[in-house]
Amino acid sequence: MKALVYEAPQVMTLRDVPAPSLGTDQVLIRVAFSGICGSELSGYLGQNSLRRAPLVFGHELSGWVEALGADVPETAELHPGAAVTANPLVGCGTCGYCITGRQQLCPHRLLLGAHVPGCNAELVAVPAHAVLPLPAAMSLHDAAMVEPAACAVQAVQVSGVGPSSRALVVGAGPIGMFILQVLTLHGVNERYVSDLNSTRLARAVETGAIAVPVGPNGLSEAVQRLSVGHGVDVAFDAVGSAQTRRDCVVSTAAGGRVILVGLHSDETSFPVNSIIRSEISLTGVFAYTPANFRTALDWLARRRIGLADGVVIAPLADGPDWYARLVAGEGAAKVLLTPGATDTRTKTVCCHDSSTQHRLVPPRSPVRGAGERASAGRGAARAGRKSAAAPGGCMTNEREGNR
Ligand SMILES: [Zn+2]
Ligand SMILES: [Zn+2]
Repeated sequence: MKALVYEAPQVMTLRDVPAPSLGTDQVLIRVAFSGICGSELSGYLGQNSLRRAPLVFGHELSGWVEALGADVPETAELHPGAAVTANPLVGCGTCGYCITGRQQLCPHRLLLGAHVPGCNAELVAVPAHAVLPLPAAMSLHDAAMVEPAACAVQAVQVSGVGPSSRALVVGAGPIGMFILQVLTLHGVNERYVSDLNSTRLARAVETGAIAVPVGPNGLSEAVQRLSVGHGVDVAFDAVGSAQTRRDCVVSTAAGGRVILVGLHSDETSFPVNSIIRSEISLTGVFAYTPANFRTALDWLARRRIGLADGVVIAPLADGPDWYARLVAGEGAAKVLLTPGATDTRTKTVCCHDSSTQHRLVPPRSPVRGAGERASAGRGAARAGRKSAAAPGGCMTNEREGNR
């Protein structure tokens, strides 16, 4: 199969690699969309200890079930051809964190595209318990964004904001945009946002957030002016640089909270004495709980949140170029690679736009006996997909026209 292999800092190559072997408790997914995550850009630059070459990146995915492992029962929802997404963060299932629903803190957690080969590939194998079938009305396009949306659900939940809170979001990338949207769902009307990229900032302002100009001394003066001397109750840092972390701290009112989400820099210095005197809480938020992941799936499916403007859809072969462009500061809201787009049908994922919701024609489910599932899955489902392809390869899902 084709996969995008990270081979060295800033070297990523489209290569033929063996398809993943399917464990008995796993599901093999044919990847429709694979999102490029900000956390992978530091990996691409060789600055991320989790991601060592050679490695297939990718942990934000949607696709179709290609085959079920021998011990995975076929159900009405989970069967070859079913449209799915998957939680890419898997805990051990038995430690204190896992049994209390906090698998993101499991010391033995495995992240797709970091500890195991990821979804920048035609096929990816994931544990069956991490797979979530999509509601009928949900597009594969939106389903690929459950993972970053789940990060925002968790960040806002941990922040404890309410309708009377003032909130600042630093960084209007995908996570920052989702945080702004989730804040709205929590009733937070007074939302401030900053980003050095004017395209991203303009997109955030369209959601009703108030733009904070970055001054020579950072954000603090503008935040104080806009909030009439109060500062904000909660500041979210969705970048993670020394400057943005500091901006969050100095923009936060006494008794407020800074939520640290961005992972850009390993170390940062803070004005600790003023943090102490103002009783400002600093809270790190990493990833999401399985419950957050389901909430994000539900909210995306019901179009309560979602990214449309500025989402770039590109073939897997363009992946290296897009990693380089994102590192250079290109302001795409999200880049979704289409590893499955190697035949005429799937090229039509490019027809997706924000005004018309398209759903790829799912592969026709081959009906097979359980015994032949794992071994015959790939060829049979591939044959099914080809025969299922509509002329032009794409159909509008009428149930999706309700956004
Ligand atoms: Zn991600
Ligand atoms: Zn665990």
